Amino acid sequence: MKKIIFALGLLFPVQICLSQKITVKAHSVVGYGQYTEFAQKAFKALELVLNSDEFREGIKTMKAEKTQGYTPEKLYEIIMQAKEKTVPTDSTATDGIVDLWVRTLDVNGRDSKWKDNCENPSIFGNQTIGIDGAGDGFMAICPSALEHWASTNDIAALAGHYAHEYMHVLGFDHYRLISSQSWRERTFVYKVGYLVRDLVKKMNSASP
Ligand SMILES: [Zn+2]
Repeated sequence: MKKIIFALGLLFPVQICLSQKITVKAHSVVGYGQYTEFAQKAFKALELVLNSDEFREGIKTMKAEKTQGYTPEKLYEIIMQAKEKTVPTDSTATDGIVDLWVRTLDVNGRDSKWKDNCENPSIFGNQTIGIDGAGDGFMAICPSALEHWASTNDIAALAGHYAHEYMHVLGFDHYRLISSQSWRERTFVYKVGYLVRDLVKKMNSASP
């Protein structure tokens, strides 16, 4: 009997690994107010996409700039290992879990330098506004972008934003001395964000 229980114990973790490779864990959601539930849907959508074959294929066939010289196979492995490089002070992240801390930008307070940026309507199509320059381990978002995406129930855009910012957390960037938006959009960080956004859209249109 003991042997059977032992064997079952060995089997179950393997089965769990096969069905789900990675978990998304939101440790804290600050300043989201009434949009907290909307964010929870985006975390779930991000998790589903990260575990999908389409995502794996998308990464493995991606041609991107700023990959730190890694092969597509290695890039996929890096994402799935989920070893965060920056986490908030006094917080701990677990490898193999996408650990997230998210907040809204306090545009009338300590994040006032983002105010003009956040109030520019062009950001609504741009999932990238946020952490670049904040660097406190929290993924920060313009309140106006969050509000816009929530009002249009654009879970895909928010999930894409988290994916983009998470690539920064894993140590990737999209900096170049002279760069245009079209160049940035060819970088790994941007492309992963767009891949996640597009796969969430596809997933949501497939299920009624
Ligand atoms: Zn960025």
